[in-house]
Amino acid sequence: MHITLDHHSKTPVYLQIKEAVLAAIRDGKLAPGARLPATRELAQQLGINRSTVAMAYEELLADGAVESFVGRGTFVARRTLAEVVPPEERTRRAPSRKMVWEGVFSERAQSPVVESLLDLYQVSTLRDVISFSGSFPDAASFPTREFRNSLHFAERTLGDEVYRYGPVAGYERLREYLAQRMRESGVDVTADNIIVTSGSQQALDLIARALISPGDTVAIENPTYPGAMTAFALAGARLLPIPVDEDGLCVDVLENVLKVQRPKLVYVVPSFQNPTGACLSWERRRRLLALAREHNLPIVEDDYGSHLRFDGDALPHLKALDDTEHVIYVSNFSKSLLPGLRIGWCAAARPVIARLTAFKQNSDITTSPLLQSALWDFCRRKRYEAHLERIRPIYRARRDAMLERLAADFPSGTTWTRPAGGLFLWVTLPKALDATELLYQVRQQGVVFSRGRLFYCDNPQRNTLRLSYGHVTLEQIERGMRIIGATAKAMLSRTTSRTAERFHSRTVPLV
Ligand code: PMP
Repeated sequence: MHITLDHHSKTPVYLQIKEAVLAAIRDGKLAPGARLPATRELAQQLGINRSTVAMAYEELLADGAVESFVGRGTFVARRTLAEVVPPEERTRRAPSRKMVWEGVFSERAQSPVVESLLDLYQVSTLRDVISFSGSFPDAASFPTREFRNSLHFAERTLGDEVYRYGPVAGYERLREYLAQRMRESGVDVTADNIIVTSGSQQALDLIARALISPGDTVAIENPTYPGAMTAFALAGARLLPIPVDEDGLCVDVLENVLKVQRPKLVYVVPSFQNPTGACLSWERRRRLLALAREHNLPIVEDDYGSHLRFDGDALPHLKALDDTEHVIYVSNFSKSLLPGLRIGWCAAARPVIARLTAFKQNSDITTSPLLQSALWDFCRRKRYEAHLERIRPIYRARRDAMLERLAADFPSGTTWTRPAGGLFLWVTLPKALDATELLYQVRQQGVVFSRGRLFYCDNPQRNTLRLSYGHVTLEQIERGMRIIGATAKAMLSRTTSRTAERFHSRTVPLV
């Protein structure tokens, strides 16, 4: 394979490499299964940095054009030729007839936030690696047998009702169960205040559509959950970053912002904030609600995980403190039960629920009635509580194992959070380290994590990363964390010696 780089081109070098490899695959110069040169070798050959070649390979991997095996290298994917260009078409199809997608996508589709979500998801779904990426629950603990029983029950007792279109706002019995459950945690709601959504991501999307006009601002934690940034940004919102510390959203900063700006709403993840794992303190919860009342400001409370608390006492939902209907509460069964059900819900004032229902009708009409009714059966048999009881200690043990390895294996100067629940923690490496570079290096050794910069809407901190412990075993934590720690240490000592070298070579005698 011969690659010629154009250093004057506007196309970044790593994309030029990617294109050259794809062209070689298309032209048959690189056959399925062929080994690509090692990143170091190709970097030397092209006279460029190794991490640039690694980025190109990473892109090819994400597109499914190549496969990578720890310790063996990177190979042209076996299925690439057949999928990218079927053999009979390869000779027939004139390249000029190919659809040109550039320029076809909407302005929204080209937004950088869409890229960041895709990026996060691609790393999270890589297989054959130890993945600390993605906030996924433990698949080995899924209560599949019990849920299958509930599916059978729903089908047997409700008959063809479960195969029809269901009510847009959700299966009535499930909404009643959710309202009842919320009342038990102090929230004053009935089924009429609830809409069932296809995961809480859809709830965020519907809220954005119903409340945001282009140009509105949304006050949002920085860093935060990328799916929320995408939902609001795609509805045309400008994101107003509010910092997060160990007590969650910095409400005093929001208070100052509100003196000069009028955001349309504030988005907050009060329990085990994504990505930091922080919990919004009691005091801040009260002050946030007081601000909401003072400024007629809706609060979107994203509670993906308060049910996953394994240490300390529960804090009240913002919605439980809200007797003035300022809070739009969003939750799901994705982290605490089965993400594949795609069932979440939103509890809010009736006018809000009415608007969201209208938008849901336009979005997907209804969330699967079969799955909703099975979930209702599963919950009414108290299987959900039993499942929560079972998984909490599992996550606590994994968090502890991760904390232990952070203390033992990571370079000094590294700091991290110690969440009391949820599925991940947040690490800040010494300033000299770049988590993207670290990711490329550990990826070669079969480990991945989420780079912190994907979670920022402003001022991304390149030395941060999110490590999920939800879907990795204790053994994987032990192995994977050692690899990340050792690689970070090696990178740091290289940077330190390079800095020292530069210092010495630049030092001139003073006489
Ligand atoms: N909110 C937060 C904070 C999340 O972390 C996620 C999923 N990662 C979601 C919402 C979306 O959840 P769901 O799978 O239910 O759509």
